[in-house]
Amino acid sequence: MVELKTPAQIDAMRAAGRVVAAALTAVKKSATVGVSLRELDEVARDVLRSAGAVSLFDGYQPGFASSPFSGVICTSVNDGVLHGLPSDLHLADGDLLNVDCGASVDGWCADSATSFVVGTPRPEDLELIATTERALAAGIAAAVPGARLGDIGAAIGAVGKQAGVGTNLDFGGHGIGRRMHEEPHLPNGGRPGRGLKLRAGHVLAIEPWFWHGPGSAYVIDDDGWTLRSADHTRGAHAEHTVAITDNGPEILTLRE
Ligand code: MG
Ligand code: MG
Repeated sequence: MVELKTPAQIDAMRAAGRVVAAALTAVKKSATVGVSLRELDEVARDVLRSAGAVSLFDGYQPGFASSPFSGVICTSVNDGVLHGLPSDLHLADGDLLNVDCGASVDGWCADSATSFVVGTPRPEDLELIATTERALAAGIAAAVPGARLGDIGAAIGAVGKQAGVGTNLDFGGHGIGRRMHEEPHLPNGGRPGRGLKLRAGHVLAIEPWFWHGPGSAYVIDDDGWTLRSADHTRGAHAEHTVAITDNGPEILTLRE
C-alpha cells in the first residue's frame, strides 16, 4: 500500500532531510586525498549523533544482503556505485566518490546521495556526474500531482539514454516515510503514463545511478554489499527525498 503523508508528517520528514543534507555536506567537505572511508563514516556519524538522528543504514539487512550493513553512509568509489561499505580504503587523487546517507528524526526518514570527485577530476567523470544530476532533476520535475509513477522513471531513463551511459533497472527509487523503503518501487526507466497516479502527500526517494558503460551488469564485492560495474567503468549516483505537494515537488534533502 502506498501511504499518503499529511502536511505535518511531511514537515517531520523535512527535519530528517535537513540532517541527511548536513551529513552529506560535511562528508563532502572532509573527503580529501588520503582520508579513509571509515573516517568519512565517522564524520557523518557525528552529524547524526549531534542532531539526535538515527541511522537507517547501520545494522540494516535487507533480503539481498548476507550480513547487516556497518556504517551510517554508503561510500562507493570509482567502479563502485551503490551500497559501498565504509572501509580502510584511503581516497586517492581523482577518485569518484558516491556517498549515500539515510537517517530518521522522531521516526520519520530521509534518504539522499551525491557523487563528486576527490582532488583532480577527469572530465568524463564530471560529465557522468552532471548526467546523473540532470536525470535526478528531470525525475523530480516529473513528480507532480496527476502525473504517473512511470513518468518519473521515463524522464530519468530518457536522460541516461540520450547521454549514452550504462544503466541497470535494479534498485532505483522508492517510497519513504516511517520506513526508508516503502512502496512503490520506482525503477530508473519505464513508460510514461503508466503506473501509480501521483498525488499530493506521496513522498519518494528518487535516485538515478549510471555508469560510463556501455555495460549494464554488476558484481557484488566479497563484503556482501559494495556493488560495482562488471566492466569496471566508473559510476555516479544522485538521490533526493521528494514530497509531492499541490505546489509541485519539494526536495526535503536539499543541500546548501
Ligand atoms: Mg540512499
Ligand atoms: Mg534510497
